[in-house]
Amino acid sequence: MNDSLAFDQSWYAATAHAAPAHAALASDCQADVAIIGGGATGLSAALHLAQQGASVMLLEAGRIGHGASGRNGGQIIPGLRLGAADLVARFGAEQGGALFHLALSARDLVVDLVARHGIACDLELTGHLTTAVRPSDLDDFAHEADAAAKLGYHGLSVLDAPAAQAAVASPSHGGLLDAGGGHFHTLNHTLGLARAAAVAGAQLHEHSAVTRLERRAGGVVLHTSAGRVTAAQAIVAGDALLGPLNARVHSRIMPVANYIVTTDVLPDGGAGLIPGNQAVSDSRFVVNYFRRTPDGRLMFGGGERYSPRPPADMAAFVRPFLERSFPMLAGVGIAHAWGGLVSITRSRLPDIGRDGPVLWAHGYSGQGAVLSTLGGALLAEAALGDESRFTPFAAVAPSGFPGGALLRGPLHVLGMLWYALRDRTG
Ligand SMILES: Cc1cc2nc3c(=O)[nH]c(=O)nc-3n(C[C@H](O)[C@H](O)[C@H](O)COP(=O)(O)OP(=O)(O)OC[C@H]3O[C@@H](n4cnc5c(N)ncnc54)[C@H](O)[C@@H]3O)c2cc1C
Repeated sequence: MNDSLAFDQSWYAATAHAAPAHAALASDCQADVAIIGGGATGLSAALHLAQQGASVMLLEAGRIGHGASGRNGGQIIPGLRLGAADLVARFGAEQGGALFHLALSARDLVVDLVARHGIACDLELTGHLTTAVRPSDLDDFAHEADAAAKLGYHGLSVLDAPAAQAAVASPSHGGLLDAGGGHFHTLNHTLGLARAAAVAGAQLHEHSAVTRLERRAGGVVLHTSAGRVTAAQAIVAGDALLGPLNARVHSRIMPVANYIVTTDVLPDGGAGLIPGNQAVSDSRFVVNYFRRTPDGRLMFGGGERYSPRPPADMAAFVRPFLERSFPMLAGVGIAHAWGGLVSITRSRLPDIGRDGPVLWAHGYSGQGAVLSTLGGALLAEAALGDESRFTPFAAVAPSGFPGGALLRGPLHVLGMLWYALRDRTG
């Protein structure tokens, strides 16, 4: 389905830096670690492993960065999909707090890598704002800010309705501002990670889909149509695009299609819509998310759709959601429209784990723009024998969806319909 989601029509594809092509795997090779997937998870793992002297081969089915990492909303939303209050309620202050802080470190890791490797990706640390679609959201926001502060994070502040509407020219009852958030050009970020990984010594191969992952005494063999990689360990970083290559990994996530547009260049560059240039999402379960682009457009994603097929006209599909959030943009020209597959897990926590020599990280549940870079770093550490930051996530790995691969789709649609109804009825 990913092929029909119009990557080439995306604003990211239109504004990406030139990137080198990487030859397909064409022979049998050996490596310490073989990686499946050239998104931010796989590339971050490759970079961190190569920097420690490991020999690394990364196999990407298509082009580097053409998965979710090169086409997402570019919103840097600190932490996990579950906030401080939820984490503490589920796991207690010690374990929940450890997860909360580990997840927050993803943002700092990305900021550090961008600076260290000179990755030009329009990084803007202007904050992330969640706007309230229901008055009762403000109680939840206050509870979350309080829970985060108790864990030592003071980046959250609650905005009343006038303050939120001054920050975003869209109807809302208030907002929760996270000063640690922001946005970036996610494709250029991913291409920059690839460059850094290659400079560190990792070998990258595009157009090299792994068709079989074989376990053998002493390691793994990854098969492609044109060659094999024998390695001591494998990292599975295919996220929503992985398919049934590994049943355990595949069963823990649900791929959900999501659609985004950018408008034509706006007369004021969007400054009147979001004066502080924050990344913004609303509090709907079927979330709308938006931000300004450096070339003066509004990037807007959202809307619910329950068919596995993409809409024939993605721009027309997203437009009503955009115009509901920004009535003054009624009839605005839409320059780019594309889609992507978000992978969600049952608990909305990422699925990070290992089974002997096979390690994986995926299922960031819509919040993987920076968590993916952390996920890759944790896999690299674990592959090199240090599981101290890997274990806290592995210990809370989500269970599979009920109904297995066959029924998870229909059951999920039923769940989404229920939440979408709740969004509409408040
Ligand atoms: C439309 C959309 C909007 C989003 N917006 C945001 C946002 O604003 N903020 C946020 O935090 N998160 C967002 N996300 C989520 C975020 O993009 C992802 O969580 C993150 O990019 C996942 O990175 P990844 O490297 O794990 O996966 P990907 O970037 O998808 O990379 C996986 C790669 O593995 C390759 N692959 C799969 N199977 C094989 C195989 N068998 N052999 C070889 N290669 C294989 C794929 O081709 C792909 O390139 C969004 C996602 C989407 C789709």
